[in-house]
Amino acid sequence: MSTIAQLVSCVDGYDPEALRVDKARAAICACLVPVAGVENVAVRDALGRVLAQDIVPSINVPGHDNSAMDGYAVRFSDLGENESSLKQIGTALAGKPFHGKVAPGECVRIMTGAVMPQGADTVVVQEVCRADGDRVTIPPGRKAGQNVRAAGEDLKAGVAVLKIGQQVRAAELGLIASLGIAELRVRRRLRVAFFSTGDELVSIGAALKPGEVYDSNRYTLHGMLARLGVEIADMGVVRDDPAALERALLLASAHDAIITTGGVSVGEADFVKQLMAKLGEVLFWKIAMRPGRPMAFGRIGNAFLFGLPGNPVAVMVTFYQFVRDALLFLSGRSDDFTIPLLQAQSAAAIRKVPGRTEYQRGILFREGNTWKVRTTGQQGSGVLRSMSEANCFIVLEHERGRVEAGEPVSVQLMDALA
Ligand code: AMP
Ligand code: MG
Repeated sequence: MSTIAQLVSCVDGYDPEALRVDKARAAICACLVPVAGVENVAVRDALGRVLAQDIVPSINVPGHDNSAMDGYAVRFSDLGENESSLKQIGTALAGKPFHGKVAPGECVRIMTGAVMPQGADTVVVQEVCRADGDRVTIPPGRKAGQNVRAAGEDLKAGVAVLKIGQQVRAAELGLIASLGIAELRVRRRLRVAFFSTGDELVSIGAALKPGEVYDSNRYTLHGMLARLGVEIADMGVVRDDPAALERALLLASAHDAIITTGGVSVGEADFVKQLMAKLGEVLFWKIAMRPGRPMAFGRIGNAFLFGLPGNPVAVMVTFYQFVRDALLFLSGRSDDFTIPLLQAQSAAAIRKVPGRTEYQRGILFREGNTWKVRTTGQQGSGVLRSMSEANCFIVLEHERGRVEAGEPVSVQLMDALA
């Protein structure tokens, strides 16, 4: 097995002391291997899971040619350039087919979803027809095959419709059910352990002494991880103490991934570095981004380690920009799950210097027909309120300088951040 250092060194332009966001992403990506392990689950329980099998229909959906409208099933060859008069010989309803055969000069009253009677090839909508007893008058100008849904037009027997690695969403649940499949194979859930580090941290429920702060990172992490559908192990607060940290890391290394917050900034990193070097292979990066400059990445045992900064906003930003995608990849996802960048007009000037990627917290709003974005104001990496007020990140790219009012900027919608 290659070492983490070997793998990341293959990333073009890799520089741990001033790592571009795209290079950090590429370095992480170069090291990850999706977890093995599958399980069978009932259809409903597959929601949010990753398929471990292709779904190949054994039946056509729909199973028969059927009507897309309420009207009359006719033989197109019976219709002329003038009005045509046909004899209605029966009715076809959804679930109650007409069993006879439509002969020349005949038609069948048909409802949406009813199987096309033998002999008929076209449905004329009822609104344009005139019925008088068993005679039906059809106006000219119909098209052959109109208003008929072909057997298999949704799903074709034998043609794979879902692929290994796709996530099962609401639409896929329905699609799988439409094939009559009750149980399917999915990847096992990823197991992620996390803890906070810091002597100043107190868990909720206890009283604060001067200089202490409540640990909020474990709660934002819980929320972000829960939305990814992974199995979560919250290991609490760990003191800035080598023995305690070693115990915690060893326990956590029984999982697929470990997320820590705090302790990777320059002032603190030394003992953490030594410890992590002893337990596994961990790289310490200074990423050219704001917020979220220091970050550790590596492996302890079989677990990938993401050592995030301590500041609450930096935790969320580094999670969304690095950890989220890594965890989805480890979960076995092979569809494109990257968060799209959309364009909006900056409502005001934004200060920015080239040389780092910034993730400002933004509010996307509509003015007339134009989508505009403004920042939430104070952008300190400790101002968690900025994340709560925001509905998007304003992504200011590495090379970009100051943004003038009215210029387009890239945004990432937070609602897309699952
Ligand atoms: P550190 O990266 O450990 O130097 O922490 C940077 C800043 O983030 C400090 O002000 C910490 O008090 C704060 N911080 C670290 N961890 C947490 C946490 N779990 N909850 C809230 N604030 C934290
Ligand atoms: Mg700390």
